[in-house]
Amino acid sequence: GGAAEPPPRLVLDLERLTQVPSEKAGPLQRYAATIQSQRGDYNGKVLSIRQDDLRTLAVIYDQSPSILTEQLISWGVLNSDARRAVREEEA
Ligand code: C2E
Ligand code: C2E
Ligand code: C2E
Repeated sequence: GGAAEPPPRLVLDLERLTQVPSEKAGPLQRYAATIQSQRGDYNGKVLSIRQDDLRTLAVIYDQSPSILTEQLISWGVLNSDARRAVREEEA
């Protein structure tokens, strides 16, 4: 991608997120619920989050951002395009 390309968005699938067992998804479920409540955004099937939030979640999950990204994509809760956002961050 060229330098003028905007960074990809990080988009959580909130319906999928409710289907992932909470022993795995619990921290992310609570984090997403907090953002929804801070925004007053309760009607969405998806939630766009900040790049910074992925870094925070990586600390919570004790993983690198790129490994956490792969996990979230494999659960079906994060758009696969998000990979590119993490690579740009770590480059
Ligand atoms: P804040 O960070 O001081 O942002 C105040 C308002 O600026 C937000 O009100 C929103 O209208 C706008 N804003 C700030 N950054 C962005 C952005 O990247 N994109 C868009 N579209 N608008 C932005 P809002 O949405 O009611 O959020 C209130 C507060 O809730 C925010 O205050 C922040 O402290 C927290 N918050 C909301 N969403 C997120 C999030 O995705 N991640 C984090 N870390 N905090 C969030
Ligand atoms: P997009 O970013 O590709 O989002 C497509 C649709 O996904 C949105 O359609 C909305 O239905 C849903 N969506 C995405 N993120 C969220 C979220 O955090 N909460 C909720 N409740 N729904 C979400 P919508 O609203 O018709 O917006 C169409 C397009 O308009 C968006 O495409 C985006 O390009 C732009 N847009 C809408 N709101 C904002 C905004 O706050 N900031 C910026 N920069 N663009 C926005
Ligand atoms: P977006 O609204 O299209 O914003 C894209 C990027 O523009 C943000 O990426 C951020 O780098 C910058 N940006 C937009 N508005 C502001 C602002 O008010 N203050 C600052 N400092 N930067 C801003 P980022 O942070 O990765 O956020 C990605 C997406 O997550 C945003 O796309 C928006 O859909 C959502 N989002 C993030 N924070 C908030 C928030 O506080 N409130 C709402 N409603 N949505 C947010």
